[in-house]
Amino acid sequence: MVKDDPKILLIYTGGTIGMIKDFKTGSLRNFNFKDLLKHIPELHLLDCEIATHSFVTPIDSSNMNPDYWAEIAIIIKDNYARYDGFVILHGSDTMSYTASALSFMLENLCKPVIFTGSQLPIGDLRTDAKENLITSIQLASMRQDGLPVIREVGLYFEYKLYRANRTTKINAEHFEAFASLNYPAIAESGVHLDVNHSALLQPKAENELIVHLELEDAILLVKMYPGITKKIITHYFSLEGTKGVILETFGSGNLTTEKWFIDALQDVIHKGIPVINVTQCSGGSVSMGHYETSIALKKMGVISGKDITTEAAIAKLMYLLGRNEDKENFKKLFELPLRGEMGA
Ligand code: ASP
Repeated sequence: MVKDDPKILLIYTGGTIGMIKDFKTGSLRNFNFKDLLKHIPELHLLDCEIATHSFVTPIDSSNMNPDYWAEIAIIIKDNYARYDGFVILHGSDTMSYTASALSFMLENLCKPVIFTGSQLPIGDLRTDAKENLITSIQLASMRQDGLPVIREVGLYFEYKLYRANRTTKINAEHFEAFASLNYPAIAESGVHLDVNHSALLQPKAENELIVHLELEDAILLVKMYPGITKKIITHYFSLEGTKGVILETFGSGNLTTEKWFIDALQDVIHKGIPVINVTQCSGGSVSMGHYETSIALKKMGVISGKDITTEAAIAKLMYLLGRNEDKENFKKLFELPLRGEMGA
């Protein structure tokens, strides 16, 4: 280790990656992250200094929630000045949600925060964990002209670093578990680490990190399907205390034009509840007004999620509701890319 080597904080939240096989019982168990360097001697070969921090009780990411997101944000805030980069080990199931949320919670982020995990535990012979972990640390350590190369929240899996809030988990078995259909990879790992510089966020280094912990979780996500009934919609839309609604719509943002549905939606909007239109398609964008079936939505003031993922839309909705913006500003801000999560 050299004095000026980048300092990386590895934060373990749980998930498959941090498990090893107990040779006596044959079952998978969490391993003690303090012993990480002992278990993965390759980490000693990296040109960086690694410190670790583990959740007291590591979790399967299916149990993730905004309180844990806040816990991660606080760990980063408390260690921001001391470390040059952060690598977060997280279960793959909800990694895109957590990473999207962190992208909004960490305003003016100027250091790499890279999420990674694996499909097989680090102790498995065929594991994808080692490559994912080692390359994530290398990406977090990259510097140019005294600044970190990656200055945003990324998600690294199977040779690709993506902008985290553009990703979706697309496969429960393949090592290539994530995709980012509306934005290119920001770096690729091959013989060289190939950074797509023109695709990176370029935050201003002089702005101080602001950590937002106030997220509003009283939101409703409704995936539309042909045949959804008036009874179901009425039930959803009349839920007491709902602060925001995301509609997962068809194609470029289309919905049934049946009067009962349009009236029910109009009532939600009259109550001052923001309604976001996000497409169910994995790729492409909402374009309200393109078809007759979305004209009414546009007229009503439904907010366009453009090409945002559902994961990022949930995070952005919780974040903006937490900021208590007025109605006009809310719509304006939601339709603007705040962290590179959508096209302009
Ligand atoms: N169920 C696990 C989790 O998300 C799967 C994984 O780690 O990939 O925590």
